[in-house]
Amino acid sequence: MNATESFIRFRPADEARDAARAPLVDLRDIHLAFGDNAVLQGIDLQVRRGEAVSIIGPSGSGKSTILRCITGLLRPQSGQIHVSGTRVDELRTESQLIALRKRVGFVFQQYNLFPHLTVLQNLTIAPTLAGGVSQADAEREARVLLQRVRLDHKENAYPGELSGGQQQRVAIARALAMRPELILFDEVTSALDPETVGEVLTVIRELVSDGMTCVLVTHEMRFAHEVSDSVYFTEAGRIVEHGPSAQVFEHPRSDRTREFLQRAL
Ligand code: ADP
Ligand code: MG
Repeated sequence: MNATESFIRFRPADEARDAARAPLVDLRDIHLAFGDNAVLQGIDLQVRRGEAVSIIGPSGSGKSTILRCITGLLRPQSGQIHVSGTRVDELRTESQLIALRKRVGFVFQQYNLFPHLTVLQNLTIAPTLAGGVSQADAEREARVLLQRVRLDHKENAYPGELSGGQQQRVAIARALAMRPELILFDEVTSALDPETVGEVLTVIRELVSDGMTCVLVTHEMRFAHEVSDSVYFTEAGRIVEHGPSAQVFEHPRSDRTREFLQRAL
């Protein structure tokens, strides 16, 4: 395997698995308020290496806030956040936060590509400017990633020339270009035309089956059911229920989860 192939293989080798037993992401009793709006009221959440974890729940229940805590964009008032051995809630300097965000990919509903850069340049700019990668290596890796999201024929296109689904696939490839240890997806298909949702979900499904650690906030319940190892159902800043995907979706313990799923499916 050459270097270019190795960076898209995410599953840890056998000997690394034992070391990887500790959760990659570990949130303990997270409390966060905006003014007097208590948005997270004791969140416990764990993600193991290679797992796909979905967070589902009504709008305003705190799902995006949880993701923003994981990347250090928001600091909780209390509780502990570990990401790959780093105490995220204790990071203080901008350089520590930047180092964290190189390791945690984040893909949003709004893809926010650089409109004046080509697809290939969108993928190479961060690795070359912030990641210390040479232009030649960054381009070689970017082309492998574009193949992976089936956009290798679009490397010279500008974002404005692409469909929403294509732009979102570029955004996913751009996140992968930083070789993150995990990727957070926040409603990445919510703004897309229905006919392009499937192509984005296909890319995420392949990442999950390759062993990329993923946290998904999504309204695509069938997709979450299919790809997730575990599922958290949030309501009003609390985890109402969590468990293996089949359990939460097929045999929810909480009436609130059952009602939510009946409305959502
Ligand atoms: P979800 O992603 O589940 O829809 P959010 O995490 O975005 O929910 O929001 C949870 C609550 O926090 C909402 O009541 C929202 O209005 C509030 N909120 C989110 N971000 C901010 C902010 N930057 N300032 C003030 N309130 C916020
Ligand atoms: Mg949200």
